[in-house]
Amino acid sequence: MQFYIGTDSVKLAKFIFNFTIPFVSFNTLEYRKSIFCKGIIIDSGSFTRIKLGREVADYRRLIDTAIINDARIVFVPDYMCETNIRAIGGYSVETAIRRTTRNTIDMLKYAEKIGFDTKRIGRVVQGWNVEDYIRHIDLMLKKKVIEDKKDCVIGIGSVCRRNATLNIVNIIKAIRKRLPNAYLHAFGVKGDTLPYINRLVDSADSFAWAIGSWHAKRDGRPVCGRFGCEKNCVHCEEAVKIFYDKMIKKCKYFISNLEIF
Ligand SMILES: [Zn+2]
Repeated sequence: MQFYIGTDSVKLAKFIFNFTIPFVSFNTLEYRKSIFCKGIIIDSGSFTRIKLGREVADYRRLIDTAIINDARIVFVPDYMCETNIRAIGGYSVETAIRRTTRNTIDMLKYAEKIGFDTKRIGRVVQGWNVEDYIRHIDLMLKKKVIEDKKDCVIGIGSVCRRNATLNIVNIIKAIRKRLPNAYLHAFGVKGDTLPYINRLVDSADSFAWAIGSWHAKRDGRPVCGRFGCEKNCVHCEEAVKIFYDKMIKKCKYFISNLEIF
């Protein structure tokens, strides 16, 4: 498994490249020109957008942002299936699956039209129960937007905000069984869950380092150990590196390789 680090800071994204690929939300990049950090992965930032009552990002703008920043991968704008987020967005699990598939088809068509490599578009499977995910996978296989091979990244949605490791592991196991040869990515994984899934997925990302840094601010104890940094550890390079090294130690099967396929 490869392990990527989430960040909303351009300065930290550049630093993260010293050891892994930075995972940056579209919401961070939306109103910027190039951040001059080639090869990042762009997440669609849909969770934050739906939570704030906004529409998910336009797939055309996502691709344009990926071109400007020369991103490695850009994910399809998806609809997550957690009950609270669906309540805000006012949609069902079925609608989430249908809309996410629609966006995938449209985004791929647009990419083909403008000559953007469709391998660089990260697909997303959504659901709440195991059956939902499998249904979504089958639908996307039928529509020919995914295949059971490593020719694109398939992100697993709606797993990062669950507090049940066992539940997450069961879902990922079922998805792996259905797509044994695909490149699977787990979104926003917590540190404790990582060792349980690192043999099941090809990659995972985490923003959890920031939680430690926010606690540092509250408790007055810097993550990096540098006197006076507690208020700034959220923007601190050492705090990110400490978290990354800790996570890597937890993973038995870790590939330190900046190439995706
Ligand atoms: Zn610090």
